[in-house]
Amino acid sequence: MLEQIEPAPADAILGLTAAFNSDPRSEKVNLSVGVYKDEHGKTPILDCVRTAATELAAEAATKSYLPIPGLVEYREAVCDLLFGSGHEVIEGKRIASAQTPGGTGALRVAGEFIKANLPGATLWHSDPTWPNHPNVFNACGLPLKKYPYFDSQNDRLDYEGMLAALKKIPAGDVVLLHGCCHNPTGVDPTGQQWTEIASVLRERGVLPLLDFAYQGFADGIEEDAAGLRAFSTEGAELMVCSSFSKNFSLYRERVGALAIVGKTAESASALQTQLNAVIRRLYSNPPAHGAEIVNKVLRSATLREQWIADVAAMRRRINNMRQGFVDGLAEAGVPGDFSFITQQRGMFSFSGLSKEQVESLRDEHAVYIVGSGRINVAGLTPTNLKYVAEAIGDVVG
Ligand code: PMP
Repeated sequence: MLEQIEPAPADAILGLTAAFNSDPRSEKVNLSVGVYKDEHGKTPILDCVRTAATELAAEAATKSYLPIPGLVEYREAVCDLLFGSGHEVIEGKRIASAQTPGGTGALRVAGEFIKANLPGATLWHSDPTWPNHPNVFNACGLPLKKYPYFDSQNDRLDYEGMLAALKKIPAGDVVLLHGCCHNPTGVDPTGQQWTEIASVLRERGVLPLLDFAYQGFADGIEEDAAGLRAFSTEGAELMVCSSFSKNFSLYRERVGALAIVGKTAESASALQTQLNAVIRRLYSNPPAHGAEIVNKVLRSATLREQWIADVAAMRRRINNMRQGFVDGLAEAGVPGDFSFITQQRGMFSFSGLSKEQVESLRDEHAVYIVGSGRINVAGLTPTNLKYVAEAIGDVVG
């Protein structure tokens, strides 16, 4: 019975890391999966996380279950971070929320919630998007459609195309947007464009679903929430999936959250019960450790300050690597204007390399990037930068 089952295709991104790990070449560089690395190519534990974990170990009194939607204190701290403490959606008790196993867990819960409670809704995602988005939402049984996002001729947001498509989406559908640091393009709407997008969707009766996996990696922790807050107007409804994988470097601890903003406090109470029902049948209740760490850091003035400085340092290093990469490409004699790379935000850069060039990079130079041409800039270091730029020079030359 089981013998007839064929192997599944390799994952578009994680499959590359498996191939990377088994590559014997010593000069190999992995710029595929979205993991931050420091200048030594390591993904270290943040000091504030280590301190919080040590304190938690000493204080731990039980390993009994958490409530279905997770730790109340954590959920409140996350909502403060997302919406800003004292925001009307918080004061008005308009939020249903849950602690989830990572951002992916939040997306899956959101998808299941939509499938169960908004029958017939289609989910619209940007073209391109993170390849796991279609995987997750297909698994929920949601119909998917795309809206244009990227102008590859000019390496910028195709704002006109995007807005025109959003204006045609039927009422009752859901639009998935990347809260900041769009993956894979690194191109985000401006503040003014966010406001316009929010009002178009609101007028049409379309529900925004924001995937917010990189808070703090573009301009700052507060600054990066500007898009999300443009949607959080009086009486507006929206869903937000957030993740602490990147900005707390807590990848393997699986810490995220889903916030659903309802029109009223009464509506939010009903939404919370439906949210709990979805989680109960998916995984019953979330794991505690990562969320306890985040909660402790966010609630301690000293640890929080350290964390804000850590995120700023990660952001600065990525931006330095962006500039270094552009300079490196010029030095390697790669033809073309790559200055757009310094305009892109977050971990990723859409290099414009073709599928064949991406394959040559891997086969001939052991440089691993995603087939779409997406480069994880946060994987570049002062040591590997020149090698990568020269390898690109070789495959495009
Ligand atoms: N959304 C996007 C756009 C992402 O890039 C990622 C991580 N690669 C996630 C969600 C999920 O992150 P997590 O590891 O927390 O599940």
